[in-house]
Amino acid sequence: MTDLTSLTLAEARTGLANKTFTSLELTDAHLKAIAAARALNAFVLETPDQARTMARDADAKIVKGQGGPLAGIPLGIKDLFATKGVRTTACSKILDNFVPTYESTVTSQIWRDGAVMLGKLNNDEFAMGSSNETSCFGPVANPWRREGSNTTLVPGGSSGGSASAVAALLCMGATATDTGGSIRQPAAFTATVGMKPTYGRCSRWGIVAFASSLDQAGPIGRTVRDASILMRSMAGHDPKDTTSVDREVPDFEAAIGKSVKGMKIGLPKEYRLDGMPAEIEKLWSEGAAWLKAAGAELVEISLPHTKYALPAYYIVAPAEASSNLARYDGVRYGLRVPGRSIGELYEHTRGQGFGAEVRRRVMIGTYVLSAGYYDAYYLRAQKVRTLIKKDFEDCFAKGVTAILTPATPSAAFGIGEKGADPVEMYLNDIFTVTVNMAGLPGIAVPAGKDAQGLPLGLQLIGRPFDEETLFSLGEVIEQAAGRFTPPKWW
Ligand code: GLN
Repeated sequence: MTDLTSLTLAEARTGLANKTFTSLELTDAHLKAIAAARALNAFVLETPDQARTMARDADAKIVKGQGGPLAGIPLGIKDLFATKGVRTTACSKILDNFVPTYESTVTSQIWRDGAVMLGKLNNDEFAMGSSNETSCFGPVANPWRREGSNTTLVPGGSSGGSASAVAALLCMGATATDTGGSIRQPAAFTATVGMKPTYGRCSRWGIVAFASSLDQAGPIGRTVRDASILMRSMAGHDPKDTTSVDREVPDFEAAIGKSVKGMKIGLPKEYRLDGMPAEIEKLWSEGAAWLKAAGAELVEISLPHTKYALPAYYIVAPAEASSNLARYDGVRYGLRVPGRSIGELYEHTRGQGFGAEVRRRVMIGTYVLSAGYYDAYYLRAQKVRTLIKKDFEDCFAKGVTAILTPATPSAAFGIGEKGADPVEMYLNDIFTVTVNMAGLPGIAVPAGKDAQGLPLGLQLIGRPFDEETLFSLGEVIEQAAGRFTPPKWW
C-alpha cells in the first residue's frame, strides 16, 4: 500500500469509503509523520488520544454508512481556533494556560462532518506576522529549502504551521485565518492551496480576534479540490457572528473542472511593481497564458488605489487589534503578572505577556485611534478602504469575472532575514491586503518554482461570494503547473 500520508484528501475520502483502509490507519500514519517532523515545529500541541478516539468514531459511522463529508479525515487546527477542552493560545504567552470551554463554529462544523483533530498548529502571535517568527513557541520551518542549501526558510505567516504541516504531509488539510494574507502567503511559500473566502462566508465566532473587520477563516489544502472540500464544511451562516452572512453554502467541489471559457480575467497594472523579480513576472504571464489556453479572455485592468492599501491596512488592522486585545488584562483569563496596584498588574501582564510585534501593533493602534489623531489616520484609512473596494467594484461592473495576480513579491526567505525592519516584513503583504480591505475572496495556487527551486504561487481574486469561480480557475492553473512536494529532510 502507498504511504497513506501521500494521498490527497479527496483520494483518502475514496479509500475510506471503499474500506481500503480505516480512519484509524490513516490517522496513525499522520500521527507517526508528526512525531517524526518535530524539527519543523508546525504543531504546538499534538492530540493523539483525541485523534484516535475521533478516528474510531468515524470508522464506526463509515461502516454504518453514516459518515459525513469529512468522515475520518485527519486535520490540523490553527491555534487561533478555540477548541473545547484543548489548550488554545494564539501562540501568545498571554494565553498560554487558556483552555476554552467552548468550540469555535468553524471547527465544530468540521467535527460535525466527521473530521479528526491531530492537534493545534503554530502561527504568528495573534496572527500578526508574515513569517511565523512572532510565535511564542518559536518559528516554524518551511519543508522547502533552496536547492543545495541547508538554510531553514520561513513557511510564511501567520498560518505558518498550517502551511508547513500540509506541505510536509503531516495532516490532510488545515484550518487557517487571513486578515491581510495569512492563508494565501504561507500557501504560496509552501506549494499548498489557500483560500480566503469572502468576508462573512465563515463564522468568526470562537476564533481569537485580531482585526475583526478583516479576519476570515479558510482552508489550506494539498490541492484545489481538497481546499474546496474543506471550504464547504467550514462555511455557513452563524447567528453568533453578526458579520456572518446568511447565504446558502454551495457545493464548492462541483466547481472543479467547470469550463472557464469566456471568463474575463483582469490583470491589474498596478501589481506590476518596480523591481519585481523577473521570475514573478514570468510566473504571472505563464498563469495568464494557461487561463487563456483554457478559453478565458485576458484584459488589463486598473486598481488605482492599490498603492495606498498597505499603509491603510497597517492603520486599520492595528487599530482594531488594539481594541480587541484590551481584554487581555490579567484579570479575566490568561497570564497574570501581579503588581502593587491594578494599574501595575495590567502593565506587568501586558508588558510580559505580549511579544514585541504585538506590543508595536497595540501602540500604533492606540495612537491612530486617540483623540486628535483619529481623523488624520483612522478615518482617512477607512476612506481609502472604501476607494480600494470601489476599484474592484468598478472592474467587476465592467464584466471582469476574476483577477489574476502574483501571490507574493518573492519566494520564502530565511528565518531572521527580514526581522530588523518591520516595514520590510509588511511589504510581503502587498498583493494580499487589498483583498481583505475589500472583503473579497482570494485563492493562492502553486504555479511554479524560482531559480533556487522554491515554490511560487499565483493569486486569483473573485467577486463577493464567488469562491466557486476561483476554484474552477485555480484548478486550471494547478493542472497546468502540476503539484509540488518538498524533498524530505526532516
Ligand atoms: N502579515 C499581515 C500582518 O502581519 C497579515 C496577517 C494575517 O493575515 N493574519 O498583519
